[in-house]
Amino acid sequence: TGTLMQGKRGLIMGLANDKSLAWGIAKALRAQGAELAFSYQGEALAKRVKPLAESLGSDFLLECDVADMDALDTAFETLAARWPKIDFIVHAIGFSDKNELRGKYVDTSLDNFLMTMNISAYSLVAVTKRAAPLMTDGGSILTLTYYGAEKVVPHYNVMGVAKAALETSVKYLANDLGPDNIRVNGISAGPIKTLAASGIGDFRYILKWNELNAPMRRNVTIDDVGGSALYLLSDLSSGVTGETHHVDCGYHVVGMKQEDAPDI
Ligand code: NAD
Repeated sequence: TGTLMQGKRGLIMGLANDKSLAWGIAKALRAQGAELAFSYQGEALAKRVKPLAESLGSDFLLECDVADMDALDTAFETLAARWPKIDFIVHAIGFSDKNELRGKYVDTSLDNFLMTMNISAYSLVAVTKRAAPLMTDGGSILTLTYYGAEKVVPHYNVMGVAKAALETSVKYLANDLGPDNIRVNGISAGPIKTLAASGIGDFRYILKWNELNAPMRRNVTIDDVGGSALYLLSDLSSGVTGETHHVDCGYHVVGMKQEDAPDI
């Protein structure tokens, strides 16, 4: 425990359960004294999120489907009513039809392309627009992305295209909000077994491939992601914005299969 986030308040969006990347981040922030609010999608998740939030000293829960602009307005009005000033936002949200997270990208439907872009990329813009006016003392906004934005990863398909839009949004948002001392960054996390990841075709193969071929010869944990998120959300990174920071045990620097990696 420490005091890096003492006196700072923020909203965590996208906590589903204790496997979520958002959970690793929330734990790391709380351990440094942050005060946390949580938003979740749909009443079904409320009973999972409530005890997790409570264990981190929070009773501040908001329901919010980020595809619904009225719901976003309401969530940020409710947030502002209790906390007129916030310091950070964690955007840990992505979604696509799992029938299109397998097979070929060329088969993506227009409906799912638009829905995936909306929930996985535009929502960061919509959230930032509403969060920025509350960041009167500056702030830090963090999203989660994946290597499938940069290179072709089997089955990632339309989600890779949405993550590319998300990473570019990070740059444009960082430029828009820089004058207000609001920073916007992304963490490109290596594969981790979560609810969202289970929708991706043959995810076990991706996990195994990364474990065998990353420079560190292991996969990242949600605590690895939490530590880097703490840096990007605290004043330690006060000069960093528009960045996509890889937290992937170095996988993104490798160009070929490792010689010591067995066939899988
Ligand atoms: P997760 O299933 O725990 O979290 C995904 C969250 O998105 C859930 O809480 C879900 O409720 C929320 N969500 C989906 N649609 C929503 C909507 N319309 N409105 C509000 N919330 C919505 O899985 P995760 O892996 O922790 O995912 C968090 C983020 O991390 C995602 O952006 C994901 O793409 C990214 N990421 C994950 C991995 C991985 O391997 N797990 C790697 C890199 C990046």
